[in-house]
Amino acid sequence: MTDIPKSFGRKSITVSHKPRDLMEEKNLVGIWTARIITLFPNAFPGVLGESLTGRALKDRLWQLETTDLRAFGIGKHRNVDDTPAGGGAGMVLRADVVGPAIDEAMKGAGGQWPIIYLSPRGKPFDQAMARSWAGCDGITMLCGRFEGVDERVLEHYNVQEVSLGDFVLTGGEIAAQAMIDATVRLIPGVLGNEASTEEESHANGLLEHPQYTRPAEWKGRPIPEVLMSGHHGKIEEWRREMSEKITRERRPDMWGRK
Ligand code: SAH
Repeated sequence: MTDIPKSFGRKSITVSHKPRDLMEEKNLVGIWTARIITLFPNAFPGVLGESLTGRALKDRLWQLETTDLRAFGIGKHRNVDDTPAGGGAGMVLRADVVGPAIDEAMKGAGGQWPIIYLSPRGKPFDQAMARSWAGCDGITMLCGRFEGVDERVLEHYNVQEVSLGDFVLTGGEIAAQAMIDATVRLIPGVLGNEASTEEESHANGLLEHPQYTRPAEWKGRPIPEVLMSGHHGKIEEWRREMSEKITRERRPDMWGRK
């Protein structure tokens, strides 16, 4: 077997960095960029194109590119997968398809630029990881499908496996969007001035206190009096107490790590 798939390098193969709307302009160097390798590029930007992350994408506070794994498929049918060595159910994404796609997606990627494989076997994603990724120059994410990808490609590119949680999805795309959302909102300017990422859940090892807004009374339930008192010191103290109480009750594991 050669390292280069027969079809690779043919003129007819186009690598899709094909964005829809928000993703369509030429991407610039020096802006935090997520590059997604996927069989379903049309799934992007998906929900990331909405609300604050969508606005920030439009304003070029971050960029999103997709690499269509199908374009690296082998033969007339652009096959990307094959049966598992050793037998068993399902299909595995081929190393000689995923490898060239990673090479393409890493072109021009400089500085701090991790390669992530979304995987239920991975290290569980958390706020600290989001913070660290937001401080990188960009990130490349490989979305698996079927039974996953050939192990050799993960070894060769020193890919980090990261999990969205202890459950199994049919593909990595939803996990990628969730992780990008959590990361991008930490990039300065994305949330605007009004929001703070320092006081919310997980920022300081605590879960957030309850939130209320108008009306002052709803179905016989008033807003806690202290929040209506205008006394900032007391409000802060109450929020801190609630935050600790909720963390203790709901997440003894988090509380224990404090
Ligand atoms: N056979 C694999 C599961 C494959 S699920 C196993 O048992 O570990 C198909 C694809 O969905 C995976 O390749 C991965 O990219 C994605 N995926 C599934 N669950 C995920 C999770 N919890 N976090 C991140 N990605 C996940």
